[in-house]
Amino acid sequence: MTDNDTADQPLAGQPRGPEVSSPDSSSAGTSALRDELHALQVRGADPDSTAAMKFLAYRDAAYLALDLRDLKAAMEHALNCLLWARASGDGRLQVKAHVTLALAMMQTYDDAGAQREFGAALTLAEAIADARGVALVAINTSHFELERRNYPQAAQQLLKLLHAPAIWALLETGTQDTRQLWEIFHINFVVSASETLLAGTASASGAVNRPEIERQLAVSAALLAVRLEDRHALSLLETAALLDALVRHTLWTGELTVARTLADEHVQLTSNADFPLLYGRALLDRSRVSARIGDLENAILDAGQAVGYFHEAASELWEARSREQLAAIYARAGRYREAYETQQEVTQGVENLYRDYHQQRALVRQIAQQAREAEVRAEALAEAALRDPLTGAPNRTRAMQVLADLHTRARQDRPSAVALLDLDLFKRVNDTFGHLVGDAVLTGVTRLLSAELRDQDLLARLGGEEFIVILPDVTAQQAETVCLRLRDSLQSASWETLAPGLMTTGSFGVAVLDGGQDITSVLMNADQALYAAKAAGRNAVRVTAKHADITRKMQPYL
Ligand code: GH3
Ligand code: MG
Ligand code: MG
Repeated sequence: MTDNDTADQPLAGQPRGPEVSSPDSSSAGTSALRDELHALQVRGADPDSTAAMKFLAYRDAAYLALDLRDLKAAMEHALNCLLWARASGDGRLQVKAHVTLALAMMQTYDDAGAQREFGAALTLAEAIADARGVALVAINTSHFELERRNYPQAAQQLLKLLHAPAIWALLETGTQDTRQLWEIFHINFVVSASETLLAGTASASGAVNRPEIERQLAVSAALLAVRLEDRHALSLLETAALLDALVRHTLWTGELTVARTLADEHVQLTSNADFPLLYGRALLDRSRVSARIGDLENAILDAGQAVGYFHEAASELWEARSREQLAAIYARAGRYREAYETQQEVTQGVENLYRDYHQQRALVRQIAQQAREAEVRAEALAEAALRDPLTGAPNRTRAMQVLADLHTRARQDRPSAVALLDLDLFKRVNDTFGHLVGDAVLTGVTRLLSAELRDQDLLARLGGEEFIVILPDVTAQQAETVCLRLRDSLQSASWETLAPGLMTTGSFGVAVLDGGQDITSVLMNADQALYAAKAAGRNAVRVTAKHADITRKMQPYL
């Protein structure tokens, strides 16, 4: 897999199936792919990798696992990909990750899940004005609809994209990546529009505008035909995709001789590819063209061969579809007994498909559940890392995070206040009543003081019997008032239930965080004020001289 953006489009190249997401995978042996997958997993788990690198590794791993039809691994990697995209904080990566997850779900026939993920991707892409993301989602959604043979819906998705103004800006960038994206757009459009028109569903489904479809189809098909003239410069997958699309278009226009020539070329091309799924699809398409021409003999031959190749490729879905086509041609040829038997095999195949489907769904549900639990655990761990285990109060790390945010704000002219609190003669509490009682007091103080503060304030335990009170958008004077109130409630708190005669007081040092000084200096100022409060006999509040609008109180101690 490449690490460029087009790897997002498993449909890049050909049969619009993630099974063939990477051109490389068609030539590489399975064991080589397994090695590659392993290497990606190692990269994903590397603690030195950034979140964005991990995202990329897991996304490529997910697509590779889909190539290998290891759906369990694909789901795991896709979920990891989303986790790391979130961790990176980059919305565009999250859009891509939702698309990856949708494609993995699609392969497990979790269509509702896939639609949900596509929806999440689109909402996000629109919210962050990511035009390329919007295009990516629409094109991959059309791919999903194509795979389900919901042709009008696929065409609709793509037309909608053409109506989005941001897309035209994107088109004008003219980068290699954008060109590839648009080529896939045209391929998918030609397939979905031709099939819609062939089935006569364009006007039947009110949502689809037939004249618009026909107009855009003519444009897209012409572009693909021009592109195909360059076929020697194209990859096998790309050529196969172009041929596949143009065969359908010529079936619609009725140019059956051209259709036959293109279908022959498609079969010829893929016969050398050692890739049964590709070859099977080419045979099936040619069978359809032959049937249309009335060459039922060849139609039966090709469809019968396609069954074998899909079986070899372990694609139950396509095996069932090709048997269905074969049964229909047998019936047209008057070979009713064979038609009946083939149809019976379809029924059998569909039953197997359902059984596999349910097994896979159960497995995938289990993985998704595990991933959710892991996410919850990770959140709980992250949360725990910011709390003090004894008192449950936010810890020093959390306090520093909050201070860093407030410092940024202070530099934009929104100052705040901080106060250091040190419990008075706490050693004596321990010595007199025991360490356990001391612990209980620390917890009680946390509860008592937190209840006195606003939601946006923070009381954190720095360590020992030292706390910090962070008061956003508060002046030194207001902070002094708050701390005096805290001091009073400490002093008047009753600890009788813990130990008769137990009392606790605290000393406070207030400083202002106004952006003029770094956080360390501000804390040193607060510490000096705290020292002054202790020197004043404890159970007191002092404000640092540096910002004291009430400097007079500081005079005796500094
Ligand atoms: P001062 O008023 O000058 O701050 O006096 P102090 O006794 O509070 O100061 P000092 O720094 O000498 O002692 C702090 C004491 O706090 C020491 C220790 O017994 C107690 N302490 C620190 N952490 C904990 C804790 O987690 N649990 C308990 N029970 N006591 C603790
Ligand atoms: Mg202390
Ligand atoms: Mg103390």
